Amino acid sequence: MRVETENERYGATYATALLASRRFDTPVHCADRFCSNALVLEEIIHDMALVLSWENGIQHSSRPRVACHEDFILRTSFSSLPSRVNLLNQHRPLKRVSTSSLKSSRIVHVGATNRPESAGRTDYSNVEHVETTEEKIARLLAANERLLARIAELEKVVNEVRAENLGYVKDFNSAEQAISKHTKNSSLFETTTHPVMVENISLGNFPPATQEAAHILSQLAAINWPSQSDEVPFWKRKQNSNSHEVNSSVTSGPVVKINADRTPSYIVHVTAEMAPVAKVGGLGDVVTGIGRACLERGHKMLVMLPFYECIDTQQIEDLTEAESFSSFHRGSWLPVKTFSGKVAGVPVLLIRTDNSFFKGDRVYGYDEVEAYAFFSRACLERMQVTGDQPDIIHIHEWHISILAMLYWDMYHHLSLKKPRIVLTIHNMEHYGECRVEQIDMCGLDGSAYSTIDRAVDERTIGHNPERLSLLKGGIVYSNAVTTVSPTYANETLCSGWLANTLLKHRSKYSGILNGIDTTLWDPSNDPSLPMQYNAQNLFGKLVCKHYVQRGLGLDADDLVPDGSLLFKRKQTPLVICITRLVAQKGIHLIRHAISSIGERGGQFILLGTAPDPRVQAEFEQMSQKFRDSKNIRLLLFYSEDLAHMLYAAGDIVLVPSMFEPCGLTQMIGMRYGAIPVVRRTGGLADTVFDVDDKRQESKGNGFVFDGITEESLDSALNRALTYYHERREWWQDLTARVMKLDHSWNKSAEEYVVLYNSIRISQ
Ligand code: ADP
Repeated sequence: MRVETENERYGATYATALLASRRFDTPVHCADRFCSNALVLEEIIHDMALVLSWENGIQHSSRPRVACHEDFILRTSFSSLPSRVNLLNQHRPLKRVSTSSLKSSRIVHVGATNRPESAGRTDYSNVEHVETTEEKIARLLAANERLLARIAELEKVVNEVRAENLGYVKDFNSAEQAISKHTKNSSLFETTTHPVMVENISLGNFPPATQEAAHILSQLAAINWPSQSDEVPFWKRKQNSNSHEVNSSVTSGPVVKINADRTPSYIVHVTAEMAPVAKVGGLGDVVTGIGRACLERGHKMLVMLPFYECIDTQQIEDLTEAESFSSFHRGSWLPVKTFSGKVAGVPVLLIRTDNSFFKGDRVYGYDEVEAYAFFSRACLERMQVTGDQPDIIHIHEWHISILAMLYWDMYHHLSLKKPRIVLTIHNMEHYGECRVEQIDMCGLDGSAYSTIDRAVDERTIGHNPERLSLLKGGIVYSNAVTTVSPTYANETLCSGWLANTLLKHRSKYSGILNGIDTTLWDPSNDPSLPMQYNAQNLFGKLVCKHYVQRGLGLDADDLVPDGSLLFKRKQTPLVICITRLVAQKGIHLIRHAISSIGERGGQFILLGTAPDPRVQAEFEQMSQKFRDSKNIRLLLFYSEDLAHMLYAAGDIVLVPSMFEPCGLTQMIGMRYGAIPVVRRTGGLADTVFDVDDKRQESKGNGFVFDGITEESLDSALNRALTYYHERREWWQDLTARVMKLDHSWNKSAEEYVVLYNSIRISQ
């Protein structure tokens, strides 16, 4: 059976389909590809719990796009609104029926008739005449006026029926009357010719998808949309939906135990950084991430950290003063106070002394060699006086490397016997240059380390004075040395002045890829975001993007309210880059990207700081130049909250590093659905695989370039921007796919645990 309604506009299709279903008490199979139908119908019968999505203006698709689901849901597989479809599908999976399987079924066909332009894609074998385009245009023009009137009538009927039944149309008789009254010019006859992807419409309950839609709408209504002229910029104000208090309870709450290890160790990290209380770069993230992961696996953890004056103590749970003692420095014993607490669920011990160390509004920026030598000794001293001996002391970077020397040459000869030392190098570029006297300060004999097989920087041999490297000393003295990705481990064995030392100690040197803290970085539970989202429902990501664009005064993608639903029209690819502005990060390529992305019709947001004031000044100047740009924004400060929002807003995350031990931003970006564009080096090579690389097609998750020139960057960036515009559906799939990749700490923690077990003293 076929219902023909000449419905090219205004929703007659669906309205008629509904009425027909009641009239004939039969499944109605409905096909339509015109958004206008859906729009009007949405207005007409939304309250009747008919939820529609639609494809905006894609009229001649190679495949049918509309599906009607049982329980009275019509929906589409529209590429233009995948997030919404995903949202709906979450609640009521879309069942698709192939055209061929419907051939034999009784079909009430409603909708556009045979389209000659679809010839070859549609089976017209039982159709006598396929109208030409001219015929179709003539027919449609002639029908137009009549349709407008008929739609008005249908609207009236639907409203009447709705009024009678409070949202459910149960009265088939009135529907029957309505149909016979308002479709008297229509012919009804059998057909199986139109491609259909359908389920029957039945007059069931209100679909839950409606509640979900209502939930989204209420969330949207609660958003306080920002603007560039706001007195308090949006990243500094609290979001409505989920307060930061909620977040801190999530992130610092009890850690759920998973995969508890059979032989738990007691591991103490000694570090200069820990996120979020004292974070400058990836080191802080790594310490917190690995700490949480090892806690989850059942290990006893403690992180020892300087009590920097700049630490926001609000972020520390249960902060309590603990034991006091004295620690040696420059010939005398300085009083030390310690404070215990928890950061992001991980037990911490903060070390404070009364002198100038660790004062000021920044983590670094004083005589670091002296301060961290003091701190390293104070940590060992605390173990000595309390008798609290861990299995593993895990030290990080050059800052704490002297601890390995202090341990083996001093404290191991006192009462500390049990601990073994693991050194993780996060960046080989910083090697802790120091002089003999600086080592003397903490009570060691500095001259004893000034040999080629200990800590001397061999490049300075013969200079006056010769210099030492704390990092080299750490490599020599630790039981195991790791760096943060396998590729970087290989690279450092082949280049750089420390390669000789690493080669000599190769048997204890390995690369373990960093993870990211998937609790702290979780778009589905991120209190910094105006709307949370996940891989199944990307609508929140669109909202975040719109929010950031508006807040920064960029041209915003359309989020157009229409009736009770929102949908998205115009889209501009947004590239983000969140980084320290140092040569390592490929500053010259970032500079190039700023202008070239704008020229290619994309948007670019840089969030970064430069430790070198000249670089900072240069970028500040550039930032002024783009102050009124609708596509470029350079934000030259540090903001954790803004970083979260930018990852959520970004379509692409750019990481053009010259070298990158591991890199977190590409992994965080993927977690938030931003596709990485990276240079193939270090950890970037271990985590990002080019989508066009046929050798590893299934792993493809981003765009990769080699070389260091602007052209090489463009080769990847251009592909990304082109695919964004031209392969919308593919891009959405890729977005959802990279969000699901597992970059959590669990796998890396497992490797660390194997390492710990291999060196700890068995009990
Ligand atoms: P690195 O440790 O070399 O700086 P990584 O990629 O390993 O680089 O880690 C960088 C971390 O610092 C990421 O978590 C990133 O989001 C964060 N970050 C860098 N710059 C800023 C900034 N200006 N504001 C907020 N977060 C930043």
